[in-house]
Amino acid sequence: MLFMSVNAGSSSLKWQIYDMPQEKQVAKGMIDRLGTKDAVFSATYNGQEHFKKTEAILTKEAAATLILTRLKNLKIVKHLEDIKGIGHRVVSGGEIFHESTLVDDQVLLKIENLAELAPLHNRVEAYFMNVFQKLLPEVPQVAVFDNSFFSHLSPANYLYPIDKKYYDNYGIRKYGAHGTSHRYVTQRAAELLQKPQAQTNLITLHLGSGASISAIKNGQAIDTSMGFTPLAGIMMGTRSGDVDPSIIPYMMEKEQIKDVKEIIRVLNKESGLLGVSGISNDKRDIDDAAAAGDQRAQLAQQMFANRIVKYVGSYWALLGVQPDALVFTAGIGENDALVRADVCHALRHLGVQLDDQANQVRGQERLISQPDSAVKVYIIPTNEELMIARDTYQLTQKH
Ligand code: AMP
Repeated sequence: MLFMSVNAGSSSLKWQIYDMPQEKQVAKGMIDRLGTKDAVFSATYNGQEHFKKTEAILTKEAAATLILTRLKNLKIVKHLEDIKGIGHRVVSGGEIFHESTLVDDQVLLKIENLAELAPLHNRVEAYFMNVFQKLLPEVPQVAVFDNSFFSHLSPANYLYPIDKKYYDNYGIRKYGAHGTSHRYVTQRAAELLQKPQAQTNLITLHLGSGASISAIKNGQAIDTSMGFTPLAGIMMGTRSGDVDPSIIPYMMEKEQIKDVKEIIRVLNKESGLLGVSGISNDKRDIDDAAAAGDQRAQLAQQMFANRIVKYVGSYWALLGVQPDALVFTAGIGENDALVRADVCHALRHLGVQLDDQANQVRGQERLISQPDSAVKVYIIPTNEELMIARDTYQLTQKH
């Protein structure tokens, strides 16, 4: 039974087709530079066959229509009716959606109304749900929310220590992000540990260009480093992560900047690895420059690792029990042996014993701690698309 997962952004759309319940990936592809005359449509299917074309794809309707047409033309599906469900990544479910849900008009409206919390995403995602619904009216659609995994956080962990009226009046609280990734690696880690998820305690480290860390107690997230927006928490590719908010008016005064949005832009786009190194937001470039002796790149490496260590330490304490495992995932977490080594070596006094040889692996699922380590350490490549396909399969089966 075929299911499609859709991850729509403002200028790109990624899709994958899964054969469920076997969880076999049948095809995947993306449209890049969507909305322009030189959009790039690419697909990989039937094992290793590739298709790539640069062409005008000006509207979201054109994008969705083209995907469905090519699915047939490339013989990825025989008939479009073979697609039994479409799952969509949705960035914000606010406080409304605690789990993935089948989409109907009311759900769509609620997702659109949450756009204030995710201005660049929710509206686009809702739009695509609408488009696919029109093109394939018989096919159920499912919304999978990026923050629903954090809906069990307690008020003590999701509220900010400010007057509660700001939460009551405006919903200012920690919402989290990357939840689908943290949820996927939590499920997978429980399988690897051979424990029921409800008895699994973890610290999950999603280290990509955006990055977040979560504390998982008895299989559920109890805290996460991202906040009201994805600007909070650890240092990222271009985002600062946590800073003292008092630096904002000070920066404005010193740089004679009138609009606070400009400082927020700097904190989002010109900070993190990029800002500290002055070189790049890509960890590979930082590692190369650091190895060549660049001191700012070395500082960026250190700060990146230090901030992770501080969060892991605080979540270790918050869990109240020794975690079963630390899990590294996403672009940096899966591929960068250096940061894994820096973090694990800093946690040696807590009993973390990294197997330095095993740690040299890149992008593969693997246990990288020594047998006598107090806590296991895993690399688990994330798979948000599969998680979306799983939820879509499950919800459409109940339907
Ligand atoms: P993601 O957001 O999960 O796709 O991660 C993207 C980021 O992963 C890139 O910006 C790089 O910083 C990082 N990355 C990818 N491959 C490597 C690698 N081989 N070594 C270090 N970092 C990498």
